[in-house]
Amino acid sequence: MEKINFYSLTQPEMEKYLMGWGQQKYCAQQLFCWIYRQRELEFSKMTNLSKAFRQKLPEIFDFSLPELVKEWVSEDGTKKYLFDMGESRSVEAVLIPSRGRLTLCVSTEVGCNMACKFCFTGKQKLVRRLETWEIVGQFVQVSDSLPEGSRLTNVVFMGMGEPLDNPEAVFNSIEIWHNPWGYNFSRRKVTVSTSGLVDQIPLVGASGVRLAVSLNAVSDRVRNQVMPINRKWPLKELLEACRQHSRKTRDKVTLEYVLLKGVTDSLEDARQLYRLTRDVPCKINIIPFNEHPGSGFERPEEAIVDAFQNELMDLGVHVLRRKTMGRDIYAACGQLTTADKNHPLVDKGLTD
Ligand code: SAH
Ligand code: SF4
Repeated sequence: MEKINFYSLTQPEMEKYLMGWGQQKYCAQQLFCWIYRQRELEFSKMTNLSKAFRQKLPEIFDFSLPELVKEWVSEDGTKKYLFDMGESRSVEAVLIPSRGRLTLCVSTEVGCNMACKFCFTGKQKLVRRLETWEIVGQFVQVSDSLPEGSRLTNVVFMGMGEPLDNPEAVFNSIEIWHNPWGYNFSRRKVTVSTSGLVDQIPLVGASGVRLAVSLNAVSDRVRNQVMPINRKWPLKELLEACRQHSRKTRDKVTLEYVLLKGVTDSLEDARQLYRLTRDVPCKINIIPFNEHPGSGFERPEEAIVDAFQNELMDLGVHVLRRKTMGRDIYAACGQLTTADKNHPLVDKGLTD
């Protein structure tokens, strides 16, 4: 009988599984408590479980987590973690300390099929979707590495991959973090960011987490060029999905807008962004492009970024500029890659 990874199971799934093994349903709660809440991994210490069951645990479950192979620390305190995903593949997660918050940015896929032109991850075709335990595991491993008394406060699905291209693992992971017997992590502190897989967007509202959408351009012409997904789901449908999400959840959508020099950063673009979104309950996050080798795009000068932001503010738009974090360690938005030991960015002399 093949073992199943413990970190892949939601509570109802675990209950079913355990009952199949002749155990009581409530053992699932007890296991969530030991493994997630107490982080007790020694079966002999799980004293409220029968001895026979404790002995069986390692036979039925695999307790492996994705292996954390490397860490970088930025001068601004941001940390990047490299996880080995087997077959010489890896993914990265980023921990961002800011204004009393500790946000973890997780990855959902090795590579990404959406092929956005400005994104480093998008250069690599999808290799595979991560499994639930590999997403849950990024949270568990980083939590375990935090100093005593320190906890993650927010999770954003803004790492490598398109979360809505891997919905089952993404939403199961959120359920597992949220489980009251385990981390009891609030769904309101989780944001799923999508490039615009319109037919999957209702899943975000249904799971009770926040929605972010990478808008990045204000005409179908430009968006088709920089985000090929737009050819399948153009702006009109995407914005309608945002309106519906907001109607259902009474929540604002975060619209992400990457400023690409000479492509998306003009004042007319700012005004068009206002016109397009004025009837969408949202806040806008502008992200000055983060450079990476061979991208073919440039980051606009500070004055251009300021002017773009001011134009929106003058129009009464709720707009924030995303602070670039971790640029020195290639941990900023769009800079993550499935680096392995031989990757140029790892070779760049980035130190442990
Ligand atoms: N796949 C999801 C989530 C990961 S990308 C999505 O696309 O939404 C997280 C954010 O980083 C997205 O808004 C994306 O548009 C932005 N991004 C990608 N490459 C970037 C770059 N080089 N500089 C700045 N932002 C970038
Ligand atoms: Fe994939 Fe998001 Fe990068 Fe686009 S921006 S290629 S969807 S990770």
